[in-house]
Amino acid sequence: MPGFELFGESEKGQVQDVLDSGVLMRYGFDGMRNNHWKALELEEALAKRMDSKYAQLVSSGTAALTVALASAGIGAGDEVIMPTFTFVASFESILALGAIPILVDVDDTLTLDPTAVENAITDKTKVVMPVHMCGSMADLSALKDICDKHSLLLLEDACQAIGGSFEGKPLGSYGDLGCFSFDYVKTITCGEGGAIITNNEQYKTNADHYSDHGHDHVGNNRGAETHPFLGYNFRISELHAAVGCAQIERLDDFLAIQEKNYSVLRNTLSPLKNITFRKVPTGGVENYSFLSFFLPTQELAKAAHTALGEAGVDACFYWFDNNWHYYKKWEHLTSKRSLGKMPQEVVSQLSDYSKSDFSKSDAWIGRTISCLVKLSWTEEQVAERASKMKEVLSKFS
Ligand SMILES: *Cc1c(COP(=O)(O)O)cnc(C)c1O
Repeated sequence: MPGFELFGESEKGQVQDVLDSGVLMRYGFDGMRNNHWKALELEEALAKRMDSKYAQLVSSGTAALTVALASAGIGAGDEVIMPTFTFVASFESILALGAIPILVDVDDTLTLDPTAVENAITDKTKVVMPVHMCGSMADLSALKDICDKHSLLLLEDACQAIGGSFEGKPLGSYGDLGCFSFDYVKTITCGEGGAIITNNEQYKTNADHYSDHGHDHVGNNRGAETHPFLGYNFRISELHAAVGCAQIERLDDFLAIQEKNYSVLRNTLSPLKNITFRKVPTGGVENYSFLSFFLPTQELAKAAHTALGEAGVDACFYWFDNNWHYYKKWEHLTSKRSLGKMPQEVVSQLSDYSKSDFSKSDAWIGRTISCLVKLSWTEEQVAERASKMKEVLSKFS
């Protein structure tokens, strides 16, 4: 998946443009910058590729989630529904605003279970935040129906699935807001960076101001601009945006390579009776950044994962035991361990997740192995890897 595997001349050329002008900031310095507006260019290219009216670049995927929530007016005590299987950024962004992360089970899509979402809705719920983990998506049609019925926002975390689609729409563009990460291990990278996409003009304006200290960006004298509301600094630099300008041009090539490599692995493993693949909701097209599959039991999955590693098949993950991606190891969240005092709303409303029953998630994640699909493998390497995986996995039935 990672764009860093294919960092080349076009990335260097884009960065050199910025270095030549010396203007490393996305705003201002109009005279000095030789007409280089890398952040603006990348926003235009991203909005176009994602069939969305607006894009807002920020400094990371976590910042994108935070700014997206803030742009929609989410604040202290508002409840945001998120999955038990995701990256810690999900609850970090929610908590940053004093809002309350509501953890909800995942199903065989490895993303939010729509029934569990509906059961978790209260009069404080404001947002449903599906996370399209490991290259594939939540059942967005079912989630949208639920959101429409209860007047909730649908915010897609598409950080791990950029370029996938649902019912013909690019992931991230189906809901009210979509977020991407361009950190160093994502499908395309800026080094560090993130983005929000939306068709809602007000959210775009809010995100634009909020991510730059509340600047209204009217006129061309930064010091004279006004600040209609409180903001923060979540800006991306021109250097990072420049890398992204090169990478977004290559996104569709990267996706084609991923699909090719993924298909070799999947077709080789398909005959195995003890392996079933992660469910992709009807209407969904993956971005093929991972191949995820289930073993018959938790014990077999854990043992098979160890055996794959011992056989030299690297970059496969057993998420059930992972420190960063599954609720079981989020003791800092469950024990509310923060450096300073937390907002009163969080202290009083955040559940004691150490006592929660997420056995439905455990039943799927406990049996899941996900293998990263790399861009840099040769055809021989993919074929060799596929046959090695088949040989190892066939022993665990
Ligand atoms: C990477 C990632 C993020 C956060 O992105 P950063 O750019 O690393 O802050 C958020 N959500 C998911 C699902 C991710 O994989």
